[in-house]
Amino acid sequence: MKACVFLLFFPIYLLAQNPTPALKITPLTGDFYVYTTYNDYKGEPVPSNSLYALTDAGAILLDTPWDTAQCQPLLDSIRARHGKEVVFCLSTHFHADRTAGLDYFKARGIRTYSSCLTLDWCRREGEPQAQFCFAKDTTFRIGNLRFETFYPGEGHAPDNIVVWFPKEKILYGGCFIKSTESTGLGNLSHANPPVWLKAVKKTKRKYRKPRHIITGHFGWQGDGLRHTQALLKKHLP
Ligand SMILES: [Zn+2]
Repeated sequence: MKACVFLLFFPIYLLAQNPTPALKITPLTGDFYVYTTYNDYKGEPVPSNSLYALTDAGAILLDTPWDTAQCQPLLDSIRARHGKEVVFCLSTHFHADRTAGLDYFKARGIRTYSSCLTLDWCRREGEPQAQFCFAKDTTFRIGNLRFETFYPGEGHAPDNIVVWFPKEKILYGGCFIKSTESTGLGNLSHANPPVWLKAVKKTKRKYRKPRHIITGHFGWQGDGLRHTQALLKKHLP
């Protein structure tokens, strides 16, 4: 009887304490999943999107949980759902919503990467640092999966990169690309809006007709690149 009462009231208790899920996993397509964690930004819980993909050599992560309490639950979920260990993690710029979990993953033997520019910024700003860095745009092959990094120039952050999966035509934009749900450009503390606009145009030219464009925050439906361009045009004098 006690157990029944517990089961009955536990979800209500959770709802009352925590209105947002701690870790949300959304299937994207095939072996690709968007995972979302939440953190407080100006007193509001804000979702942060990252990605994991399954390969025959293990799972890979693009960006870490923003909420570091979700690092182990994420690893556990991937193991439970897919029977895979995470073997690789790449951070797409130096801000905490991309890098917060790097130390946790490094300590568990996961190979962590960022661009060398991002590594410099992490050092300067006291953010967790990846173990390995790459100096220019790089193609990675992990098991049967191939993807490439692209530095379009400064934008949301001086070091932001995007990641392209050519076979699946997935463009992972991180915070460089704004959600179609966003009405503003968000955190501009390290942004360079005029250069950002040029960088978005460059990215659009390079990656024609992506099937999915994953944004750093909020929903990723629709054309985030076009929306980012529109927001920047509105913002610039
Ligand atoms: Zn962000």
